[in-house]
Amino acid sequence: MSLHLDDLSVDIAGRRIVSGIGLTVGDGEFAGLVGPNGSGKSTILKTIYRVHRPATGRVLLDGTDLLGLGHKEAARRLAVVTQESASEFDFTVREMVMIGRTPHKRSFERDTSTDHAVVDHAMERVGCQRLASRRFNTLSGGEKQLILIARALAQQADHLILDEPTNHLDIHNQVEILEVVTGLGVTVLAALHDLSLAALFCSAIHVLRAGRIVAAGSPADVLTPETILHAYGADVLVIEHPDTGTPHLIPRRIQPGTDGHPVGGIAPAQPARPDPAS
Ligand code: ADP
Ligand code: MG
Repeated sequence: MSLHLDDLSVDIAGRRIVSGIGLTVGDGEFAGLVGPNGSGKSTILKTIYRVHRPATGRVLLDGTDLLGLGHKEAARRLAVVTQESASEFDFTVREMVMIGRTPHKRSFERDTSTDHAVVDHAMERVGCQRLASRRFNTLSGGEKQLILIARALAQQADHLILDEPTNHLDIHNQVEILEVVTGLGVTVLAALHDLSLAALFCSAIHVLRAGRIVAAGSPADVLTPETILHAYGADVLVIEHPDTGTPHLIPRRIQPGTDGHPVGGIAPAQPARPDPAS
């Protein structure tokens, strides 16, 4: 099970938003997509889950062009969880998870015993059986995200796309969500905001800046002060996590009167590696 982006570029309203994106997420790998607000993370993910069409390049699932698959086939291969949001319908939690079964059913087909077993199993795996008869819209943010992951599981897709799945969650829920996702053993590409948290869970991290990948590799290789300054214009101290050895980022304050440049007079945007965008 692999996900491969090959020279992907995407235009929105006549403007090129992302260019020349190449990345591979191997079988069972958890890869992170990071970069500042507006750098194109969601645009790339939406192109993978077919909201946008590529202007150039391809999205390949196990070597097959995703655009060549029908909608149901694509949904059986690829599940998506975005930021926590309210449902416009007053579904129970169980009904919400059952929606994940849609690509496995014909129109108006009743829920089968298999559907019920898969839904039970999905809720068990995220530890949310006790919430089954609650109204989805009454859940906390963390509970909602777990249920949306259960829905993705019920879809039985082996590729999972996550767009900032832990936004607005407290530190326990952030770790819990990523721990659950890691335990699934599926191939994951996740846009994540918290770089230290990304380093704890991702085997590879791809850094975007202005629609291009400017660094990619293991968290330790990629999450350096130089790369973070180049991509985000932020001055950070990077230390090793005492338990895991993964990079942990500590922000430095911006000194007043320095034009927003970080303390210490570091020249902005020294590329960690040549950046074709600049
Ligand atoms: P990120 O997820 O990294 O914050 P996005 O992919 O959402 O970034 O956005 C990248 C850029 O594309 C931004 O400049 C954003 O304004 C622009 N963009 C995204 N969607 C649209 C749209 N539907 N119409 C116009 N511009 C868009
Ligand atoms: Mg986004």
